[in-house]
Order: sequence, then C-alpha cells, then structure tokens
Amino acid sequence: MARKRIIVVVEDEEPIRRGITDALRMAGYDVVEAADGEVGLIEARRAGVDLVLLDLLLPKLNGFDVLAELRVTRPALPVVILTARGSEDDRVRGLRGGADDYVVKPFSARELLARVEAVLRRSPERPAPVVRIVGGDAVVDCARREIRKGENEAVVLSEMEANILERLAAHPGRAVSREELLSCVWGIRDGSVETRAIDMHITRLRQKLAAASDDNVEWIATVRGKGYMIGASLEVKTAEGQA
Ligand code: CA
Repeated sequence: MARKRIIVVVEDEEPIRRGITDALRMAGYDVVEAADGEVGLIEARRAGVDLVLLDLLLPKLNGFDVLAELRVTRPALPVVILTARGSEDDRVRGLRGGADDYVVKPFSARELLARVEAVLRRSPERPAPVVRIVGGDAVVDCARREIRKGENEAVVLSEMEANILERLAAHPGRAVSREELLSCVWGIRDGSVETRAIDMHITRLRQKLAAASDDNVEWIATVRGKGYMIGASLEVKTAEGQA
C-alpha cells in the first residue's frame, strides 16, 4: 500500500481544526495539527509533509509569515490557504505569496477535500526533476528523452516512457503502484483504464533500455503486488541544488 499522505493543518479555531482533521482522516490522510503559526511552521518544515492547510489569522505568527518562511526552505511544498469570506485581498496576497490554492470559510468537507486532491494531483510531492539516470555505461538524458551508451546511436524514448521512468526515478527505493502511474503520468484517477496498459508500456520501456545498455543492468524492478521501482544500482541525478 502506498504511504499515507501527510497534511499539516494550521488553524487556531479548535472546532474548525477538528472538523478539517476529521474529514481528512476519514479520507485516508495522516494529519498533523497546529494551533498557532509557530508550531505550524515547525510541523510544515518536517520531512515527508505533502501539503499544508494554512489559516491566515493565527496567534504568534500569522499565515502570511508562515508562508513566506516556508517558501524559503520548502519552495515546492503545496500550501492551501484558508481565507474568510469576502477577504479578496487576503486571497490575492496569499496566492502572490506562493500559496497553491485557497478555500473560503465556511467550506464543506467535500469542497476542502476536492481542493486538497486537486493540488496534490497537480504537484504530486513535486520531487526535484530528474535530469539523468545512469545505469552501467548507459545514460538516460531526461530532457532529450534518449538513452546513450558511448558512441552508439541514441535510443529515443516516447514521452510516456520517459514520464514513467522519471516518475520511478524520482522515488528511488519506493515501489510506485500502477494506479499512481496512471494518475500522475496519464492524469487518470477513475480506474477506467486497464492498469495492464501500464504493464505494456513498462515492457516496451524495458526492451529499449536493455537494448541500449549492458545486459546486467536492472532498470526497472517489479515489486510483486505493489508496482514498479527504479533499479537499485542506478544513479539518479536531479536538478536539486542547481537552481
Ligand atoms: Ca484564525
């Protein structure tokens, strides 16, 4: 089973915080609660957090300051702000400050969950983009979508194949389920497409990778009952730190 997504809820009004927390837990998320901005910032900065729901009027440190601080250390962390009805200025200021979306109070659990899902879908963990994957003497260049080995002619990957490979490489050591690949590579969430389609793309991708590299390199591992994982011996280079 995929790990539960972790959402930090920063909201000082206890009944609202509890309502949000209950709704998120019911929907299968792990929730960390924070009743003021200072605690919220500490919790939001922890590794593994997937999204932050951030009230703006908070004790100790207001939501705008929390957002500004967060953007310094976690520029890509999805943040949804909670704003009061009619406060358009806050909304605009929040979005300009780097919030990914907003929900206007009072909101229904359904509306909140829809926003959270949409933001997570747009930016699934937003890992640092994978630039290169090295397996033995062969190198996959993600921007050019090709595999090169020495002086051999480059083998070109389809956009779909490159996306699958990048998704796996962005999460080394973790099995990525077919459902996750469907939702992030194809943008499909309703399960109407056979997950077998994924297997067919994987097969073709493996054939290309094998043809372009040494036989002993395992590019994509199958994890029974879970999905696929990037080969453990590969070297993955991301764009992190280059910005
Ligand atoms: Ca408040």
